[in-house]
Amino acid sequence: MRSTYGVLHLCVVAPCYNEGAVIESFYVELTAALSSLECIRTSIVFVDDGSSDATLQILNRIAEKDATVQVLSLSRNFGHQIALTAGLDFADADAVLIMDSDLQHPPKLIPQMVRHWLEGYHVVLGVRREAADASFLKRRTSAGFYALFNLLGDVKLVAGAADFCLLSRPVRDALLRMPERHRVLRGMISWVGFSRVTVPYDAAARPAGESKYTLARMWRMAVDAVLSFSSAPIRMALRAGLGVLLLAFAYFAYTIYTVLFNGATVKGWASIVTLILALGGAQLVFIGLIGEYLGRVYEEGKRRPLYFLKQRPEAAAKPATEASYWSHVSSKS
Ligand code: UDP
Ligand code: MG
Repeated sequence: MRSTYGVLHLCVVAPCYNEGAVIESFYVELTAALSSLECIRTSIVFVDDGSSDATLQILNRIAEKDATVQVLSLSRNFGHQIALTAGLDFADADAVLIMDSDLQHPPKLIPQMVRHWLEGYHVVLGVRREAADASFLKRRTSAGFYALFNLLGDVKLVAGAADFCLLSRPVRDALLRMPERHRVLRGMISWVGFSRVTVPYDAAARPAGESKYTLARMWRMAVDAVLSFSSAPIRMALRAGLGVLLLAFAYFAYTIYTVLFNGATVKGWASIVTLILALGGAQLVFIGLIGEYLGRVYEEGKRRPLYFLKQRPEAAAKPATEASYWSHVSSKS
């Protein structure tokens, strides 16, 4: 795990999207936490995810004064997960720590996370105990998401472990060899395996700015997570289809029986209509599900780059893994 000079190198990756109001205080708290680490070289990669406020200017100003800071800027807003991926691509260190840049992930937890890494763990997950400013709705939807994912998903997630974690180099390299478009890093981190440990923390309220995870974005992320890590929904379609077919046969047998032995005439218009509607509905739902999977196959098939950069650090090494190489355009703006 030792780097070339015998000193371990930890790189913090922080994605920022319109965080102009909070980014400076985050930087101050982060560097305070990093300076308390002994015998470890540290650096920071800020990824500006196409911000439309002053975030990029502020980051560039910070990087001018601090040589350990590198700034990447994506050509537009690609979303949190892609911004994290871009940061991982450039964070060529013995361990990478990913965290939000809005101070909701407390930098003072870093020394404890680093201790676990030095003990030999490959993945150290920060696990949120309580989110100070999370609405009732956000808490319930979040709990529902983890319950559903763990029920259906082929890999299991730790509830509350949301993109605040330390990853050793082998884990980071493994993630970069996964070129899928619909990226849900917490699921991918669970999928790659390696030894892991959790560190609980209480999420502070956002000191400034606002959450970019609207309900619509959270819904998209939940769908991505379930469909990317599970074939259960599509298998459910088969089982449900067979179940409905069996019911239809039973109903048919019952109708024949009543006509032959009870002499009943056909009434039941309502039940027929109900049946047709139920079947039509079920079919539409499952055709939709198949469409979701098919859409994913189509998008993966295009193998588009994951992101484009409009700014990259002068001295940046080329992306670390061959598999991630095609996901880059290494042009300067
Ligand atoms: N973020 C990003 N791109 C986006 C949305 C968010 O890079 O399109 C960053 C954002 O700047 C923050 C982190 O991802 O550092 C988490 O976002 P946010 O705080 O809005 O999410 P929440 O904490 O409300 O779930
Ligand atoms: Mg936040």
